[in-house]
Amino acid sequence: MPELPEVEVLKLSLSRFINKATIKKVEILNKNLRYKISSSLIKKLEGKKILKITRRAKYIIIHFENFFLLLHLGMTGLVFFRKLKNIKKIKTSFYYEKNEIKKKHNHLSIYFTNGLVMIYNDVRKFGYIKLLKKISDKPFSKLGPEPLSKSFNCNYFNKKKKNIKKNIKNLLLDQNFVSGLGNIYVNEVLFQSKLSPYVTSKKINKIKVVLIIKFIKKIIKDAIKKGGSSIKNYKHSDGKSGKYQDSFKVYGRKGLPCIKKGCNALIQRAFIGQRSSFFCPKCQR
Ligand SMILES: [Zn+2]
Repeated sequence: MPELPEVEVLKLSLSRFINKATIKKVEILNKNLRYKISSSLIKKLEGKKILKITRRAKYIIIHFENFFLLLHLGMTGLVFFRKLKNIKKIKTSFYYEKNEIKKKHNHLSIYFTNGLVMIYNDVRKFGYIKLLKKISDKPFSKLGPEPLSKSFNCNYFNKKKKNIKKNIKNLLLDQNFVSGLGNIYVNEVLFQSKLSPYVTSKKINKIKVVLIIKFIKKIIKDAIKKGGSSIKNYKHSDGKSGKYQDSFKVYGRKGLPCIKKGCNALIQRAFIGQRSSFFCPKCQR
């Protein structure tokens, strides 16, 4: 499932390809996503120019003069490009040419006047695309701060966690507490912070909070730099895989030895809040 770094990398790719571009034609190939793609999208988008592309949490926001187009990738959403002419020659359609992406999972094609075609593909159909008048409304109104923003700091963390009985794993996944973190990166953050995923949030001391904040920011930044992680269907919009999965210290390492020096414990896997948790029973307390 794409998390913040993957969506940020997608935003950067989109900005490179279609910032300031004008839409020529919109084709809805299969409207069945988490919410049905509205056919009003076609009329609304054709002839319009993109002003800028931003990200909030795991949402891509494409800005137009009087409205916004919201894109959420769900579990398996992919955005990729091809050129109208000379399909075989361009790198941007790498996976498309290799036929790894099945055409039957293409939901939407947007043709731009610059000759590029943007395609949204989603095997499991949990993603969605919709028009918004304002970006202060749902789903943005309740979102917690961005993990890389200044407002996500120790003061905020200490204040918020005060009365929270749920465990730290579930707190970090709570989008109202901090937005954009998902299962993979939370596993990595807790490992680096030497904190058990089971610890009750309000019991975490201030020293640990400093570590958690530090590692959230560091890991998210590193992952963006490396192009995100490529597991379970995630690819850039320019068709390359991310590299951050090579840096996983704990995620997906069940039964393998902990990498911390002097620790000979084996990484365990457990389900917390129905999500896989990987942790070292010795280092993480
Ligand atoms: Zn260990």
